[in-house]
Amino acid sequence: MNTPTSPALPTLFLSAQDVATLVQRIGLPTVLERMASTLHADYLRWPAFDKSARVASHSADGVIELMPIADDTTFAFKYVNGHPKNTRSGLPTVMAFGVLADVATGVPLLLSELTLTTALRTAAMSVVAARALARPDSRRMALIGNGAQSEFQALAFHHLMGIDEVRLYDTDPAATRKLMANLAGLRGLRLIACESSKQAVRGADIVTTVTADKTNATILTPEMIEPGMHVNGVGGDCPGKTELHADVLRQAGVFVEYEPQTRIEGDLQQLPADFPVTELWRVLAGRADGRTDKAQVTVFDSVGFALEDYSALRFLKEAAGELGLGQALPLVPGLADPKDLFGLLHRAPTPLALAA
Ligand code: NAD
Repeated sequence: MNTPTSPALPTLFLSAQDVATLVQRIGLPTVLERMASTLHADYLRWPAFDKSARVASHSADGVIELMPIADDTTFAFKYVNGHPKNTRSGLPTVMAFGVLADVATGVPLLLSELTLTTALRTAAMSVVAARALARPDSRRMALIGNGAQSEFQALAFHHLMGIDEVRLYDTDPAATRKLMANLAGLRGLRLIACESSKQAVRGADIVTTVTADKTNATILTPEMIEPGMHVNGVGGDCPGKTELHADVLRQAGVFVEYEPQTRIEGDLQQLPADFPVTELWRVLAGRADGRTDKAQVTVFDSVGFALEDYSALRFLKEAAGELGLGQALPLVPGLADPKDLFGLLHRAPTPLALAA
């Protein structure tokens, strides 16, 4: 039987260019602020989510990960890699895409690029944490690692936290020059290229480490840490890939996204399983202390949690709807009789021959 076709169920598709257009049309500061508000609101709903540590497939030079999460109505996942050597062959270290789906039916609602979006959501998440943990009078930030994520971090902290001086260091001076060229002309943000991490960190209120190297690096050592600093540790996010000397964590209040995942992937992996940490959602919800005094050192041991991609996808869907961006993708077939999947083969341009 040849049952008629129904229109395919539309899944909204957002390409990297669509997301770039969305940022241009809404404006980067507003996108970062809306992303931060969405993240904050979703973190306050923490108990409503079915959470798990991401599934990681490790290889010699990198990792490929799947990050699922759901509440009662919406499921999300992200595919993301981390290959620090990729840039040598012209590929990004981090590439990602993701899906939002309807829990009631399983229909995929949105398929989106998440490479650009990951940089936006990670920077917005860093600010959500810093608003709760850094000294409110913070004005000077050190930014160690000036690769793909770095401009987003600098701009999020400038526009959303009032940072007006960023001190830069990267082992690759070309990366620092690229950052300075990309942000040239932005008034109110002073960029200073430094010759070492130590020089960049001296006198900083906030230190963001966002390097990529599959090794136990010690970008920050205890003698570099000054009273009252907030450390936004972004690049230590995988087993065997850390940025902070373990003693930096030992002398600080340590805050994490989802503890079971950070114990495996964060800088925290260097410390015993009973080292005390606080999940950030508890601070945001007023259930735990954030910074307790001006001199305390705080560390946000960021690894990137699935909830942040759920929030980012939710924001993208809403904003793309407002602007009419994206295309309907016929990802799932439309079937007049949902039990007649086989009929799709009969309706193919060259109908299926059942007998040879
Ligand atoms: P990238 O490769 O584009 O940039 C990394 C930069 O770090 C490079 O310019 C490299 O020269 C520099 N670097 C390496 N070792 C250094 C050192 N010892 N001192 C100073 N600079 C050094 O990578 P990216 O996309 O910017 O990502 C940076 C890191 O952030 C990666 O490790 C990535 O896995 C991580 N990341 C984390 C999250 C999160 O949510 N926590 C999200 C996205 C990316």
